Amino acid sequence: MIAKWTGTQSERSPALFVYLPYCASVCTYCDFNVYARREREFDAYVNALRCEIEMCAQSVAPSRRATSLAFGGGTPSLLAVSHLQAIVETVRKHFAYDQRAEWTLEANPGTVDQEKLGALRAIGFNRLSLGVQTFDDARLRAFNRVHTVADAYNAFAWARRAGFENINLDLIYGLPDQTLDAWRTTLDRALAFESEHLSLYGLQVEERTVLKKQIDLGRVSMPDSDLAAQMYERAIEKLNDAGFVHYEISNWAKPGFESRHNKTYWLNEPYLGFGAGAHSSWQGERYENCKSPREYMRRLETGDSPIASREKISRAGEMSEVMFLGLRLAEGVTWARFRERFGVDAREIYREPIALLADGKLLVVDDERIRLTDQGMLVSNQILWRFLLDEA
Ligand code: SF4
Repeated sequence: MIAKWTGTQSERSPALFVYLPYCASVCTYCDFNVYARREREFDAYVNALRCEIEMCAQSVAPSRRATSLAFGGGTPSLLAVSHLQAIVETVRKHFAYDQRAEWTLEANPGTVDQEKLGALRAIGFNRLSLGVQTFDDARLRAFNRVHTVADAYNAFAWARRAGFENINLDLIYGLPDQTLDAWRTTLDRALAFESEHLSLYGLQVEERTVLKKQIDLGRVSMPDSDLAAQMYERAIEKLNDAGFVHYEISNWAKPGFESRHNKTYWLNEPYLGFGAGAHSSWQGERYENCKSPREYMRRLETGDSPIASREKISRAGEMSEVMFLGLRLAEGVTWARFRERFGVDAREIYREPIALLADGKLLVVDDERIRLTDQGMLVSNQILWRFLLDEA
C-alpha cells in the first residue's frame, strides 16, 4: 500500500535567491536571461525587487526564517553597493537568518575593487563566487568577457583582504582548441589561489548564442566532447589530490565549505526566487516570474504579480526531482530520506533503472543509499532522465 504523501518540503524554511539580469557585456556562450548596457534601469529594477520581496513576505511567507541567501545573475557585482545594500535591507526586514547563514554574491572580477568588496562584506555577504573561467586573456576577449586574468588575481586578493574566508572560483573546460595540458595548467593556477570552493563547467554550445553562430560559420572549432570528458577526469584526480571533496557533479569544496545554498536545489528543498525570470519552489508549487526586466518592473510598479506561470508539483514530479537532482550529489539519495518524504521505498519504484545503471557501473547501490560513480557523473546528462516518472 502506498502511504499518504507527506510533502515535507513545505514545512521547511526557504533559501532565498535574488536574480540580477544585467552584465557589462554578454559572453558569446551565454544563453541566460541577461541584458547589457541597461545601467539606466538599475534603480527601477532594485525598487521592483524590493517590492517583490515585500509582497512575497506578506502573502507567501510571513515571518519566515530563511536558510541562505544568494545574489546571482547576470552579474550582481555590476550594481552599486547602494543598490545591493537596499535589497539586503529589505531581505533582512522580512526574513530572519541564522548568524552563520551562507550569503553568496556572484561577482565578475572586472567589476569589483578593494573598496567595493569591503563594503559587500560589511553588508553581510560571507561567500564570494568569482567568475574566473580561464587564465587566458585571448580567450577571455574572444568570449567577450570584460575582465582579464590580472583582474581575477586582484579580485581574489582584495576579497581576502576584505575578509571573505569562503571563495569559489568558476572555471570552464572543454574550450575550443583547448588541450589537456592547457587544462592541467589552468587547474594548477586555480589551485594556487587556495580558494575554498571550485565550480568546473564543461562548455556547452547553446542554440541562439554568438558562439553557436561562430561555430556554424567555421570561425571557431566545435569543442571536442571526448577531450572534455578527459579534462573532467583529470580534474577529479587533481582536485582529490589537493584535498578537495567532489561533492556534486560540477562542484568541489574543501571539507566544510560545500555550498549550503546550492544544496537546497539538489536536495529539492524549498526556495523563493526574486527578479526577472526567477524560479521558486514553495509549498507544493513551482512558479516562474516573467523574464523581461521591463515587464517585471511594469508589473510591480502597478501592483501586479510578477509571476508568469505556476504549476502544482505532482507527487511523481517531486519524486523524479528528488532522484534526478539528488543523484547529482556525491552523497546520492538515501533510502531513508526518500521513504521519510514519500512513504515508499525508492528501490521498488526505480527497480529497472537502478538495475540497468548499476550493471553498467554508473551507479553504486548499498543498504543505505544510491549514488553515481565517477563514470556515472561523467555521463549524468545521458542517464538521469531514467529517473523521471510519468506524471499522468
Ligand atoms: S557574465 Fe555570466 S551571466 Fe553574464 S553574460 Fe557572461 S556568462 Fe552570462
